[in-house]
Amino acid sequence: MSRAEIVVDVAAIRHNVRRLAQFTQTPVMAVAKADGYGHGMLPAARAAREAGARWIGVATLDEALALRDDGDAGHVLCWLTVPGDDLMPAVARGIDVTAYTTDELDAIAQAAGRAGRKARVQLKIDTGLSRGGATAAHWPDLVARARAGEEAGTWRITGIWSHFASSELPDDPANDAQEKLFREALDLAGAAGLQPEVRHLANSAAAILRPSARFDLVRCGIATYGLDPAPGLTPSDLGLRPAMTVRADLALVKHVDAGAAVSYNGRWVAPAATTLGLVPVGYADGVLRSAANRAEVLVGGARRPIRGSVCMDQVVVDLSGDEPDPGEPVILFGPGDDGEPTAEDWAEAAGTISYEIVTRMGGRLTRRVV
Ligand code: PLP
Repeated sequence: MSRAEIVVDVAAIRHNVRRLAQFTQTPVMAVAKADGYGHGMLPAARAAREAGARWIGVATLDEALALRDDGDAGHVLCWLTVPGDDLMPAVARGIDVTAYTTDELDAIAQAAGRAGRKARVQLKIDTGLSRGGATAAHWPDLVARARAGEEAGTWRITGIWSHFASSELPDDPANDAQEKLFREALDLAGAAGLQPEVRHLANSAAAILRPSARFDLVRCGIATYGLDPAPGLTPSDLGLRPAMTVRADLALVKHVDAGAAVSYNGRWVAPAATTLGLVPVGYADGVLRSAANRAEVLVGGARRPIRGSVCMDQVVVDLSGDEPDPGEPVILFGPGDDGEPTAEDWAEAAGTISYEIVTRMGGRLTRRVV
């Protein structure tokens, strides 16, 4: 058993993908970028496929190619290339690449020529996130060029898509505005003769909360891993199961007197004689420093607060009232079934979102897939 590890429950991922497809009645794209949100891209993608995920979504070409190298022959979409990226291997291997600009279409045309194969291209419209995607002003040009390339046999426009800015705030009128603009963009593309296989807009929160945004595909990242897109958003009858547990062995148990200043800069001072435990994970393993004095871990069935600063390799927890042995299991977070904190609890404690909690986990932690 390792000193500290990430335990990934792939049955939970399979369960979540099935539940999302059932609940939304829409094919699912499981988003596996960023090493499967910290769960391991390949085991996560395999589990998602086993559960029927029609698509896998990733950001980079390298991620997409790694899926092919792993034997994934299904639909894969990637959406973040940079000028100079070699698109040829992705085109040659049937990966859907996203174009935001006519320059990107030119690069794809070149790659298709070199690959000797028609590219599969998805167009992205920026409906209000102001990140990737053609603005409404550039959309007609992008569509016209896309249609011309389709007629020339250079590519097939397989999808048209966009991404919400505030889907976890379902009452935000920006969501309506984005969906409206997306529908207009689809109409314009249709009028120009494009007939994509898939139109998609919804990430997890929108997939769950906004039926009108489901279109042909829902792109679910955080919900695939069983986490709530925002606290309290996911209906409990959806029954998603968190897939990640982070655990460690307690390294040391010690006693300090009242007045002891704990960890760097003495940001916690023992008000009384205290039993402390040393947990061998730190910010180099993904434990956020902002969790200092706020987050809790589970030791011996009870939640124990972190005391003082998070260090590079270790954190100190308060074991007062108990006397666990060194080597005792420590659960930093998990599904919460045994009283351990969840990634959402950690997110709240650290002033961030659960996405950051799980994607940061790594460093020297080993990953065990169960
Ligand atoms: N689609 C795109 C383009 C994304 O960048 C992401 C993740 O950030 C997702 C879908 C998945 O989002 P979520 O994890 O909220 O489901």
